Amino acid sequence: MLTYALSKDTNKLEHIDSVANGLKCNCFCFGCNDALVAKNNCSSSRSNHFSHYSKDENRNCLMTQLHLAAQHHFLNAEYITLPEVSFLYKDEFLTNKAINLKVLSAQLETKIDRYYADVTIETEIGTIAIEICVTHKNEHDKTAYYQQNKIASIEYDLSSYLSKDIDEAIKDLNEYAVESTWLYEWCRDELIQNHNVFLAKEKVRIHQKRQRSAKLSMTKLMFDKRITLPDLTQYFKHKIGGTQYSENVSVFTQKEIQLTEVFEVASTQEYSLLKGNLNEHIIWIAFLLERNQIPDDIAKLGGSAIIQTPSINENEQATWSWLKYPRLARRIEHTKKQFINRCKLKKQLKRNVNWFLLNTDNLYKKDYQTWSNWMKKINYHLKFILSFHMFCAIKKNIHVCGCLILGIF
Ligand SMILES: [Zn+2]
Repeated sequence: MLTYALSKDTNKLEHIDSVANGLKCNCFCFGCNDALVAKNNCSSSRSNHFSHYSKDENRNCLMTQLHLAAQHHFLNAEYITLPEVSFLYKDEFLTNKAINLKVLSAQLETKIDRYYADVTIETEIGTIAIEICVTHKNEHDKTAYYQQNKIASIEYDLSSYLSKDIDEAIKDLNEYAVESTWLYEWCRDELIQNHNVFLAKEKVRIHQKRQRSAKLSMTKLMFDKRITLPDLTQYFKHKIGGTQYSENVSVFTQKEIQLTEVFEVASTQEYSLLKGNLNEHIIWIAFLLERNQIPDDIAKLGGSAIIQTPSINENEQATWSWLKYPRLARRIEHTKKQFINRCKLKKQLKRNVNWFLLNTDNLYKKDYQTWSNWMKKINYHLKFILSFHMFCAIKKNIHVCGCLILGIF
């Protein structure tokens, strides 16, 4: 039902109760251009409304009315409440509370470059472009233009009001209860800039904290010369036929050792480095101050080296790991051979089980009588847990027997 229409004389939006009755209202439908007849003396059973003069009212007429009503709401507003701003930036939600602003001026269908904003309003924080969605969201190109050119812009979604009374939409617009989305937040740049300043300060603070922590650990290490060598795990894979086997295998278990000598070699903005001697062997001990990459000087070290990497969360402990481990090479080789042997065993077991499953019927026919006689002689409880399949397996293949027993228990 139409209760808002445009005046032919002023092109302003008029409510049904503010115009003369009948054709004298001098209004037209913006959706289909038909003249409208004001029916504002309706009985209590029917609300006042505009009816079309020569055409049938259609969905487009109602859509247009809703769009126009929303546009004129913002055009005539003295104040506007801009909703809360909240967006994700560098894993952090940056937010700003809703603000109430005086509208200094407003304009309909404002041309911005090659686009038109439904409404633009001037406020003390600058121009805000307002888009109204009744059936279609703002065009992707226009939204991209707003974002690239940092034009504060917001879209109000009225699509859910198409099936409702227009007054409900007007009421919700007045109360700022209509769903809205920032296309480009009015304070986005400022929030990002402030957050970047905060991140830069945090980076310096965390770096200094890591430096202090590394210094303390180094002093202690140089005093007691005891270091815990970290775990070492290797990832092995081996292919047999069409089957790929893989496993993370422990090669070295964490162990504390007593060094004969420890001294500081270097301290830079990226790392601190100690050199430890264990009899004639050398072990490099590096404290990294950044997580992202291993400094070239550390990567080039010869011999055994362990590194301490700072944690992502500053409240968690840094972690130790092996960077170079030439003295563990033989142990790794041996562990890999053991892994390959396990793969071969698994493959053989799989072949045996497959053979057994394929030959179950033949075994059953062949040995049923023997099994039946045997079962009559043995204890009742034993009968309960033994199956004929196991019996066949024991006769045929000891590997299959083992496999089935594992399967049962
Ligand atoms: Zn119409």
